[in-house]
Amino acid sequence: MARKIIKHLQSLLASEQGAVVREWGHRRSVALVYPQEYAVGMSNLGFQTVYHLLNAHPDLACERVFLPAEAELQEYQRSRTPLLSLESQRPLTDFAAVAFSLSFEPDYLNVLNILELARIPLLAAHRGDQFPPIVAGGAAAMLNPEPLTPFLDAFFLGEGEAAAALFFEILTGHPDRQTAFKTLAADVPGVYIPSAYQPDYHADGTLRRFTVSPGYPAKIRVPHLTDLNSYPVHSRLLAPGSEFSRMFLVEVNRGCGRGCRFCAAGFIYRPPRHRSVASLQAQLQEGLATGAKIGFIGTAAADHPDIRQLLRTVTASGGQVGMSSLRADCADAELLTLLHQGGVKSVALAPEAGSERLRRVINKGLTETDLQEAVVNLHAAGLSHLRLYFMVGLPTETHQDVEDIARLTKRLQHAVVKASAGRSRPSITLSLNSFVPKPFTPFQWTPFAGVSALKERLRMVKRELQGQRQIRVHADLPKWAYFQALLARGDRRVGSLLLDTHQASGDWSRACRQSPVNPDFFVLRERSRDELLPWDFIDHGIDKSYLWEEYQNALAERETPPCQPDVCSRCGVCPGPGNGD
Ligand code: SF4
Repeated sequence: MARKIIKHLQSLLASEQGAVVREWGHRRSVALVYPQEYAVGMSNLGFQTVYHLLNAHPDLACERVFLPAEAELQEYQRSRTPLLSLESQRPLTDFAAVAFSLSFEPDYLNVLNILELARIPLLAAHRGDQFPPIVAGGAAAMLNPEPLTPFLDAFFLGEGEAAAALFFEILTGHPDRQTAFKTLAADVPGVYIPSAYQPDYHADGTLRRFTVSPGYPAKIRVPHLTDLNSYPVHSRLLAPGSEFSRMFLVEVNRGCGRGCRFCAAGFIYRPPRHRSVASLQAQLQEGLATGAKIGFIGTAAADHPDIRQLLRTVTASGGQVGMSSLRADCADAELLTLLHQGGVKSVALAPEAGSERLRRVINKGLTETDLQEAVVNLHAAGLSHLRLYFMVGLPTETHQDVEDIARLTKRLQHAVVKASAGRSRPSITLSLNSFVPKPFTPFQWTPFAGVSALKERLRMVKRELQGQRQIRVHADLPKWAYFQALLARGDRRVGSLLLDTHQASGDWSRACRQSPVNPDFFVLRERSRDELLPWDFIDHGIDKSYLWEEYQNALAERETPPCQPDVCSRCGVCPGPGNGD
């Protein structure tokens, strides 16, 4: 019996503020799936935004679906119940469409787990029209949907506010699926129907071309929301069980103009766009009325030109604020005092690399002086715990660069000791992540550093910091970064590895040993300038030649200045002076 599961879902629903529960059967239904557990999915602002967008459409009703937590999963298996939606507790096969929200590559395996739990055949080619179309969107899909194409019928590659409602209106409004796909491809920007694009390969395994079926575009142009103020993005649901259960998230900007060469979000969400203070004030007031903390969200929230005014609005009303990380060159005394007044206890800085040389390679645009000033200001403002993010495995990285991570950390700690005349020594948490080269960045051609090299580099940093009681080091597992790189950089053939791994109960290593697909080919191989990349059919408006030029600048340790959308057209995204509408 599914009674226990239904009771659990109903009590979850009753505990939330902002859920939309429509009477079944009056509107065309979309099951919106987050391929992680409820607490994680409900903390994702993009997921909440699409839920709200679709429910605001007069003909659509959107319900949420999550990966069940362990205890719930056992109950599903024991009672032989297919996976149910949260709002009406119905199986996914009852819906007119099933849509996955994909933010991170490691969630891909959960897409397959969820389809299986929903009793939907995994492979698109094995599903008849009696099953709903299975589609996906989100940041990870916008970078490279290819490894998931064997399992999905369609993708929407773009910012949801730009065309997601139209996408589902057409998808669910056509009785004939093939007609719906053709209409979507013709009428909605950002639609990718994988079955209409057939790849073939050179003898060396590299991609030769995609043969595109008639009626489908050769390039998929990704739509963006031109005027960010036209659609406010903030928490639509407050869910007690979620990571941000006591935080009302407000998106203040999208896209980042700093041009860090490792950052995919910084490229695919170009140009940098800021919401106006007038449009944000209404959202802040709405958030303050809930009594929750106001969480400032954005690709670079502290870069908002009026961030101080916005913080003051919250603190003047007695509200609390949240901001997870800051650029060191934004961390001036005024901003940090406002954060402290807003109840922020610690802020993360992301030098990313230990040496100035490597920070030039990645175009981080931060000097050691910027970092020292920032930590001293942080400490003076009462933010005594310091979190620092670094990466290992960046292109051109040497042993010296790796050792510099530890040296820089100690020097930053010492800068605070000196500024406080020896009265305090801040505690530091160092977060070390393995660098994964991502599509649509200047590093898309570079190989992943390799698991053993990364392990050795992580060991080096830990060794250098041994005995430093006030510095704690957290490091990721390079093995998982390897598989993330495989999913981020792979083509359609990686789909079969994904399926094998699912069948091996998530054991990537076993699946890789048994598969004819060589994962190293996708992960560890340097690509040539002229190679057709699996994601080259997606058009984010950025010239591939610009990314290559930026790659060469990186290798020559040359920095590139930040975006200036009014006067610049260098990457291809902005029209440049005099060429706008
Ligand atoms: S054209 Fe210039 S300002 Fe616009 S996104 Fe590209 S680099 Fe930035």
